Amino acid sequence: MKLYLYGHEFHYEMENLCRLFFHRQKIEVLENCRDMAPEEDGALTLAAPDGAGGLDLLVRTRVGAYRGEGRDHTTADAPLQEAERRLGVLLFRQLSEACGIRPRWGILTGVRPVKLLRSLTGRFGEQEAARIFREDYLVSEEKLRLSLVTMRNEGALLARSRPDSCSIYVSIPFCPTRCAYCSFVSSSVEKTAKLIPQYVELLCREIEKAGQAVRDCGLRVDSVYFGGGTPTAISAEQLAALIASVHAHFDLSHCMEFTVEAGRPDTVTREKLDVLREGGVTRISINPQTLSDDVLRRIGRRHTTRQTLDAFRLARDCGMGNINMDLIAGLPGDTVSRFAASLDGVLALQPESVTVHTLSLKRSAQIFQDGVGEPEGEAAAEMLAYASSRLTESGFQPYYLYRQSRMVGNLENVGWCKPGFESPYNVFIMDESQTILACGAGAATKLCRPGENHIERVFNFKFPYEYISRFQEVLERKDRVREFYERSNGTVCPLS
Ligand code: SF4
Repeated sequence: MKLYLYGHEFHYEMENLCRLFFHRQKIEVLENCRDMAPEEDGALTLAAPDGAGGLDLLVRTRVGAYRGEGRDHTTADAPLQEAERRLGVLLFRQLSEACGIRPRWGILTGVRPVKLLRSLTGRFGEQEAARIFREDYLVSEEKLRLSLVTMRNEGALLARSRPDSCSIYVSIPFCPTRCAYCSFVSSSVEKTAKLIPQYVELLCREIEKAGQAVRDCGLRVDSVYFGGGTPTAISAEQLAALIASVHAHFDLSHCMEFTVEAGRPDTVTREKLDVLREGGVTRISINPQTLSDDVLRRIGRRHTTRQTLDAFRLARDCGMGNINMDLIAGLPGDTVSRFAASLDGVLALQPESVTVHTLSLKRSAQIFQDGVGEPEGEAAAEMLAYASSRLTESGFQPYYLYRQSRMVGNLENVGWCKPGFESPYNVFIMDESQTILACGAGAATKLCRPGENHIERVFNFKFPYEYISRFQEVLERKDRVREFYERSNGTVCPLS
């Protein structure tokens, strides 16, 4: 598929839109090119000054026997994004006709549609925001309703976040083995076991430095989240040391949540659960992804359904009263009925929350190198529709939502929970309105200026070996937290 661009710089958005329809194909982008090569599939997107300060817009597509052409126009007073949106609408409509599919999120390709809806609602009111989603961005009624309900449900938590709030993220990028669909920076324990003791020791030092930054800037910790990887892939003693470090260096008296992902059921032991409970962890996540052993084998998870069920019961036995479980729609070899059975099996355990992801088709995942068949988008959509109705009738509500690039069927990930069990961290990270101080390899600190839509990111090194060998730089980068708040002219804290 060739994408021709002329007279504009909307390369990224036009390419993303093409990928909604041709996700298996390479999109070859040709800039400053106003003529399509004859007889090849492609789309031309063109913007030309109209002589009065506005732009004439043209999109022409050729896909197999299909031929499409559409024109639009922006006036001199329209912002440049309006030309981008209008070109996007033309392209989307033609590719929908050519391919016979209509992606449910319309021309929205961003990660945070609910954040956009909230922003539009703040500016124009909910009714007009809904109209913009439906008519200007071509979002389906189903996804609009989901976005509206999610926006309302996350509102109560967002209202509790203050200008001086922050959350703490601790990255433990190790897993027992690497899943075939994984595109994260996570190393298998088998390969990296010897790095873990030093990694944990240095991570405790970074936590200490982050604690100092929080005190210096007068910040208040609203939530703590240990993610990965699989945090429970390390030993009980190592987990205990990290949790102790968090308690030693942060004041958690206002903390609403302390989550540890115990993602892989094969890493959950009574000893580790005792460490978590005694360390004040309030929420854990045990992630089956599917309750089909056959699908688990295909995706290289190397644990069984029995281990998931046992891990869940053990966690309850150890007093864990807030457990999330993750499922993935669209896994290779899965079917709608198998997915439904997985969800039913998860609900029978009565977790407090269930997060339903859609498989993301990242090229870095082993699945693609192995050539494992990818499921159809419509089957994944049916899985999500089943999840939505089954979870709703079981008393769950959607409270956070995000999307990734290359998702099967261009769908979404949704966190569902029983009322009162919303994870503050998940809501804050999606809304991007609160500073997240992140520690560990692959972690990114996000500094949010209160009251402004301004975010600065400070990245840590990706891999544990880099994190260890360049640790002094990691510590130095934490100084940027204080610098950021100093530049905020003391709006958060006097920094005395
Ligand atoms: S458990 Fe998660 S982070 Fe670890 S390998 Fe599997 S998908 Fe990747």
